[in-house]
Amino acid sequence: MATKPRAIIVGAGIAGLAAAWWLDKAGWTTVVVERAPAIRDGGYIVSLTGACRGTVDRMHLKPLLDEVAYTFDENVIHDSRGRELLRIRYEDVSGGVEGLALCRDDLARTLAKALPESATLRFDETLDDVVEDGDRITATLRRSGDRLEADLLVGADGIRSAVRQRFWKDVNCLEPLGYNYAVYDVEGREGLGSDCISFNSPGHLDVLYRLRNHRLAALHIWRDDHHAPLVLPNRPAGFDVLRDVTSGSKIEIVKTVLDRAEQKGCATVIDDLTMVNLPCWSQGRVVLLGDAAHCLTLMSGQGAGMALVSAEVLGKALMAEKDVPTALASHERKLRPVIERLQERSRTMAAMYIPRTWWRYYLRNLCLWLLPHSWVVQWHANSVKTEIDLTQF
Ligand SMILES: Cc1cc2nc3c(=O)[nH]c(=O)nc-3n(C[C@H](O)[C@H](O)[C@H](O)COP(=O)(O)OP(=O)(O)OC[C@H]3O[C@@H](n4cnc5c(N)ncnc54)[C@H](O)[C@@H]3O)c2cc1C
Repeated sequence: MATKPRAIIVGAGIAGLAAAWWLDKAGWTTVVVERAPAIRDGGYIVSLTGACRGTVDRMHLKPLLDEVAYTFDENVIHDSRGRELLRIRYEDVSGGVEGLALCRDDLARTLAKALPESATLRFDETLDDVVEDGDRITATLRRSGDRLEADLLVGADGIRSAVRQRFWKDVNCLEPLGYNYAVYDVEGREGLGSDCISFNSPGHLDVLYRLRNHRLAALHIWRDDHHAPLVLPNRPAGFDVLRDVTSGSKIEIVKTVLDRAEQKGCATVIDDLTMVNLPCWSQGRVVLLGDAAHCLTLMSGQGAGMALVSAEVLGKALMAEKDVPTALASHERKLRPVIERLQERSRTMAAMYIPRTWWRYYLRNLCLWLLPHSWVVQWHANSVKTEIDLTQF
């Protein structure tokens, strides 16, 4: 019996775990190498809409995801003084399309549970040396020193991808949108009158989501005038930065949540909103997936969704084509037009939801106050529909 082709997948995030599932369907075995000691925790909400819903169904994940999914009835958006600007009921804007709202870590853990036997997960590991010689990938793992041979290397290691930095060395592919963000989850949710509340001031947005087990997830986004990627080694401690950017806020609940998260030592992810724009996602037998290839940022609402879709398209391309580079080219041909449309959307949505200047902010709020509520709801419904349409092939 012929031996199965083998892939090394770097990163056990959404893209890497989904790729292991779809490569199994294409008859491959995989080794998934993850730097963290376990599936990464971290409470922020991702919603799965559009083309990825088909992928979720084809992976038979829906019943498992339903067990951990959230139902958010409404989002209540406030201005910088805490006055209600807009109350949006998700039912009214979804156009009848059922949304799947999940904590990112619940989604990753569900994907890990669904991993096929052909996939081996190696936590607390990363690649040390890796060579692509046209026909073969040879890699050494950093901690164990194990040497792996494979037919394909998949870089699914997120926005700061080490695989990308190694194989696309001189390509400047980062496009900052001019905002930073921080996410964390913390116990307690008193004062949270609704499932999801937002506070918006010029160049700043705080969002609080009600989670299970008496917890809430917080997302802060703020304008970054440097308009350049955060340099990670020099990144100041998360809560110092957050305290600084929320210091002018008049919103008590935001300060309370921040204080509590700091006291409890909650792990915070803090980063910039930066898109990844690469001219090509593969080289020989190396391919990038998910945020590593084409980070869309949270503004598109499609990063995790497209990571799932991309894994499916890759698996099917490897099934259809015998030659690996041809399959990788076919994967990119199919996916790239969708990704480019979503990236365009990310650029415009940031300006809409977090106006950078006072006059743009007042103009936007004036429209929200003066226009009939039904028009505003219709605008949101159209926006949701556009997002879903953009993901279609
Ligand atoms: C606040 C927020 C809200 C969002 N909302 C949505 C939404 O509503 N809908 C949506 O679809 N998307 C959303 N996204 C985007 C989505 O979360 C990402 O696009 C998605 O998680 C990307 O998955 P990934 O697997 O490519 O990368 P990641 O999830 O970043 O996974 C990369 C993995 O690689 C590992 N890794 C990194 N470097 C190495 C290395 N050198 N060696 C080994 N392992 C390594 C990491 O530890 C990690 O486990 C949101 C993102 C944020 C931050």
